[in-house]
Amino acid sequence: MQRNTLIFCSTLALPLYIYTQTVQALEWPTVKAKQIGAHTYVIEHGPHDEDAKVSHGFHNNPGFVVTQDGVVVIDTGSSYEIGKMIVNRIKGVTDKPISHIFTTHVHGDHWLANQALLEAFPQAQTIAHANLIALLNNGEDKFWLDTFSKRLGDDFAGTKAVIPTQAAEAKTYVIGGINLQVLLFDKAHTVTDLMVHVVDDGVLFTGDIVNNEHCSFMGHGNFKGALAATEQALALKPKHVVVGHGHSGKIELIQSFNAFYSTLRTEVGKYYEEGLADYEMKPLVVAAMSQFKHWHNFDTQIGPYISQIVLELEQEAFQ
Ligand SMILES: [Zn+2]
Repeated sequence: MQRNTLIFCSTLALPLYIYTQTVQALEWPTVKAKQIGAHTYVIEHGPHDEDAKVSHGFHNNPGFVVTQDGVVVIDTGSSYEIGKMIVNRIKGVTDKPISHIFTTHVHGDHWLANQALLEAFPQAQTIAHANLIALLNNGEDKFWLDTFSKRLGDDFAGTKAVIPTQAAEAKTYVIGGINLQVLLFDKAHTVTDLMVHVVDDGVLFTGDIVNNEHCSFMGHGNFKGALAATEQALALKPKHVVVGHGHSGKIELIQSFNAFYSTLRTEVGKYYEEGLADYEMKPLVVAAMSQFKHWHNFDTQIGPYISQIVLELEQEAFQ
């Protein structure tokens, strides 16, 4: 009898332990809304580690701007649960409604949390690059749902694709008295990128065109375009920069990515001209990129980056 009781307790204790762990993690106790401008906040910062067991899918930098009339959100996150956290953090700062949501690009970790924000504020306008709206409405939404469902498991429960509806324009939106300058890029980190410059606060949201010592997947993008996008971003001379991944900071973050894209293209271009194949030039390029070797994902991404730039150079030769 005693033994049976012990077995019963231990089998009961295990699910309880798991349940408690999961709930604690999804309360996001360490994630705060940090003010970085007179009106601008970042919910910082998802950890670099993209391992879902560590991050529960939160590894980007959702931001928001409190205007006279409402709250403008720039990027949400990977899941419904993360969206609920974002709504909660915004409510901790202001009781104004969410009026607009800008999405910086098509990758699912930047918009799959939209659902929770729209549930709480159904009137919010959702704005993104026209290419993003077209891609997701043509079926790419299912790719992102599948990808993040596999990656996040139970943490993705209940998540639905809520696709932005308004095509962004390259202009300055005046929302609740705040000037938000939108820059559009057809070929940069992806074919769907935009940056949001909160002119009044001197804060620039770069999306994944710029990260903080973090190499993103560039398979949907173009290095020449990404380099040009960093030039445009530098010309704005922002006081604070919210990057796609990693901690936000100053203009040096854009300078570092400008140097990264520029050095990489120059080095690959040099060896391409000499007739080397991508695998032959890799150790030489890596040696020339030593100042970036410590960046997150450098070791896994540098090979694909070199191969992609070789393809881009071949395409450029025919243009
Ligand atoms: Zn991305």
